[in-house]
Formats: sequence, C-alpha cells, structure tokens
Amino acid sequence: MSATLLKVTGLKVAYGGIQAVKGVDFEVREGELVTLIGSNGAGKTTTMKAITGTLPLSGGDIEYLGQSIRGKGAWDLVRQGLAMVPEGRGVFTRMTITENLQMGAYIRTDKPEIAADIDKIFGIFPRLKERKDQLAGTMSGGEQQMLAMGRALMSRPKVLLLDEPSMGLSPIMVDKIFEVVREVYAQGVTVLLVEQNASRALQIADRGYVMESGLITMSGEAKQMLSDPKVRAAYLGE
Ligand code: ATP
Repeated sequence: MSATLLKVTGLKVAYGGIQAVKGVDFEVREGELVTLIGSNGAGKTTTMKAITGTLPLSGGDIEYLGQSIRGKGAWDLVRQGLAMVPEGRGVFTRMTITENLQMGAYIRTDKPEIAADIDKIFGIFPRLKERKDQLAGTMSGGEQQMLAMGRALMSRPKVLLLDEPSMGLSPIMVDKIFEVVREVYAQGVTVLLVEQNASRALQIADRGYVMESGLITMSGEAKQMLSDPKVRAAYLGE
C-alpha cells in the first residue's frame, strides 16, 4: 500500500463556542484522489481551512508526510508540497492571468522551468492561454476556477486540496473542471477534493468520506459508495 501523505486524527475546530468539526479522522495516501462530500454546513470547508493552517485546531492533530503540521501556516505548507485552491478561488483580480500563474511559483527559483510550467498549464487550460494578458477579475467564474487551479499547480504540489471547485459553475464548466481534476490526478498529483456535487466527485475519486454535522458518517471505495442505497438516498438525490 502506498504511503499516507495526509492523516487527520480526532480533528476538532470551533468558532467561538460552536464546534463545527467534532472529531474527524481520515487519511489520503500517495497517488489517491479522495473526496470529502456532505451537505451545506457539514464542516468540509472548516476541515480544509484547519489543514492549511487558516483556522486553529481545538483538538486532534493533522500530519503531513508523517509530521504534525499543527500551527503551520499556508506558506510553510506550500513549500512542503501541500497546496490549496480555496472555495471562492481567491485569484488576484488586478493581475493578468500570466501574472497570477507566476505568483503561484513564488516559492520556486528555477526560472526557466517556471516558464515551461506556465506553458504546461496553458496546455491543460487553452482558455487561459487565449486570455493570458487579461485581468483575472474580468474572467468568468469557471475561468477563474481554472486559473486558481493553474496557480496552485505552479507550486508543483504533492497534494492538491480543492474546495468545491464546481461551485456556481455552468454544467459545461463543471464537466471541464472535473475533467481537469482527473487529469491532474493522472499526472501523479494526490488530490483531496471537497464537493457538494457528491455524484460527480465519487465518479472520479478512489475513495470517499461523507461528512455530516461535523462528523464523518460514512467512508469507503468511491465506486461502492456510488451504489450504496444510503448514499444514493441522502446525497445523490434518489
Ligand atoms: P458548505 O458546503 O456550505 O461550504 P461546509 O461543509 O463547507 O459547507 P463549513 O463552511 O465548514 O461547512 O461550516 C460548518 C459549520 O460552521 C456551519 O454550521 C457554519 O455555519 C459554521 N461556520 C463556518 N464559518 C463560520 C464562522 N466564520 N463563524 C461561525 N461559524 C462558522
């Protein structure tokens, strides 16, 4: 079995007195595409923010590459190969597409390879190439999502965390985003995908976890979960 890259144990996160994440365990192994699904307010984004050091833990631990990353900031984590595309994308709106991609490589010093990687990103997202000098703030939601993913890939991550990449996108754009997630994974990047679109997420994932009211309530092989009547009734609208 491949190595565990990310291991979350007994994770608790609170907002003031309110526990949003109440003791969650899960892991992501090298080369896997794992999805965390669940309805609104289940605590998925809170979990992602705890992993990337944006929110403090009130209990439990998070290990990356076998070491606790509790208290580490996003900068440190990106340097260690853990990159995140946040919900809402967070592109630099007053910079061009090319400049946004260059920002994604801020931890790197290998200039010629950075240029080659930008070309690779343009290969995955021809739309970004067509618009490379356009200001990111003037792009559509789907284009900004592509840019946010491209920017994260510029750090050459080992693990890519994606928080609801399909949110607010048109059906065609959703197709494209899921295709690209799959492609990134096929190129060897380990992926943790948070999604409300459970059906699509389970279709491309190896394994899945269901989160409900701050707890993991189900987990398993993605294919088995897709055919599980309980999952189908609760999350796949059947
Ligand atoms: P969604 O898919 O709607 O983003 P989610 O599963 O990502 O849902 P979270 O955003 O993690 O859920 O929210 C978990 C719980 O924490 C919710 O009850 C939410 O209202 C609460 N919460 C989130 N952010 C804050 C905050 N800044 N202050 C107080 N409560 C918060």
